[in-house]
Amino acid sequence: DLSRISRALLSVSDKTGLVEFARALAARGVTLVSTGGTHRTLTEAGLTVTEVSDLTGFPEMMDGRVKTLHPGVHGGLLAIRDNPEHQAAMLAHGIAAIDLLVVNLYPFEATLAAGKPAAQCIENIDIGGPAMIRAAAKNHKDVAVVVDVADYGAVLADLDAHDGAVTFATRRRLAQKAYARTASYDAAIATWLAGEIGAAPAAQTFQALGGTLAQGLRYGENPHMKAAFYRTAGAPRPGVATARQLQGKELSYNNINDTDAAFEAVSEFDPARTAAVVIVKHANPCGVAEGASLLDAYERALRCDPVSAFGGIVALNRTLDAEAAGKIVEIFTEVIIAPDATEEAAAIIAAKKNLRLLTTGGVADPRKPGQVWRTVAGGFLVQDRDNAVVDDMPLKVVTKRAPTEAELSDLRFAFRVAKHVKSNAIVYAKDGATVGIGAGQMSRVDSSRIAAWKAAEAAKAAGLPESLARGAVVASDAFFPFADGLLAAAEAGATAVIQPGGSMRDDDVIRAADEAGLAMVLTGHRHFRH
Ligand code: 5GP
Repeated sequence: DLSRISRALLSVSDKTGLVEFARALAARGVTLVSTGGTHRTLTEAGLTVTEVSDLTGFPEMMDGRVKTLHPGVHGGLLAIRDNPEHQAAMLAHGIAAIDLLVVNLYPFEATLAAGKPAAQCIENIDIGGPAMIRAAAKNHKDVAVVVDVADYGAVLADLDAHDGAVTFATRRRLAQKAYARTASYDAAIATWLAGEIGAAPAAQTFQALGGTLAQGLRYGENPHMKAAFYRTAGAPRPGVATARQLQGKELSYNNINDTDAAFEAVSEFDPARTAAVVIVKHANPCGVAEGASLLDAYERALRCDPVSAFGGIVALNRTLDAEAAGKIVEIFTEVIIAPDATEEAAAIIAAKKNLRLLTTGGVADPRKPGQVWRTVAGGFLVQDRDNAVVDDMPLKVVTKRAPTEAELSDLRFAFRVAKHVKSNAIVYAKDGATVGIGAGQMSRVDSSRIAAWKAAEAAKAAGLPESLARGAVVASDAFFPFADGLLAAAEAGATAVIQPGGSMRDDDVIRAADEAGLAMVLTGHRHFRH
């Protein structure tokens, strides 16, 4: 199952490592053929290389759109070596076998990511490259195809170990990688065009396939599960996938998932208006606060649930400063993510070797449209990103008592946070800080009870006589189906409520609110997050 490599065709846009690889091939007796720019690079390095136009009998034309699309090339890649008819065709038409194809494609994804105009993106759609890659990969029984600079070494190692041949195992592995590359390449193009024409979310999930490997992971959510982290193609946006890790251990699967949740949540807080901090555990916020400074915001976020915050992820919406950094490192924290960090802050974090510090360059735009997708057995679900923001919702007061300005401000805060808490979500807040969060329960009344209980616990931990829920406001991510959840909140001491409304029993719930002296506003928007 060995294929001797006598002739190689090299045609690469990314010329990293090209000369060294080609020289190593030549030293092993391999004849080199290449396209214009690649040929120039190799001959300048003193190598002897045939031009592909000698194979095709045509010059490269139309700005390089047509270089290698010719039977002289594709016959040499596709001919089955032990098929007499294929051999006869090669002989009759003067086609020489190509045993090794080395191609990397026009940089479409990089051109798009750099925000270049459409015409330039289109010019960077490679045609002949994918055609050759697919041809060589189809014929991997006889041909080796390399699409990744990182595989140059492996091919040379194979040649040396097997007397100038590449094994079938290597050829098959390379073929798989080749199709993965052309698939992701076309997916990136399809995703881009889907966005340009405003196509349905399903079409835009090609983006998921257009991903490039960002990081191999040691394991997934659990140690017996393999995992990897991919970055999607297209315009980069601030977030965990594009963040720079300044220090700390390698991120785990759960770290990445939780950090994403934390950063998306903190991005709801415009850094021009307020400092804000979100602490996340197991993909749910366990403390969120605005503050006069990041330190203030962090201390108030921490107060909500100091027990859960242990081993948490901390996301900040402004440049991490020394004050906040000094406080955060007082307890065990897994990850800190912020738009940036001052040198002083970075130095404080550096004392904690394992602690990861990520910078994103900015916060994410919560209103930006996008798609999210998840798998189900045998398929996947696609939906728009939840880019609804409470500030854009006309709030409707439905109770006799209207909320005060202070209550209204906290109601908005609480609903902003509820968007990022797994359903059923109940969030108590006071003075721009959460004081009790109930997440992920199967009944809303249970979430209400848990949130109230947590508010009482937080008060105990802070040595306060009264539950933090007393005088707070409460948000619910979806309507109260019965008055019971609302009454649990009133009993805990809440004075005002924000919820989408829309229940069959809205009238009952409003009556109960009036009886309890609560002020209640409806948003008309639900924030389920399952
Ligand atoms: P070079 O720098 O050698 O002139 O061009 C290398 C690039 O051209 C590679 O990225 C390769 O995939 C691409 N390429 C090779 N043949 C063709 C072709 O026939 N049409 C187009 N559009 N690109 C090609």
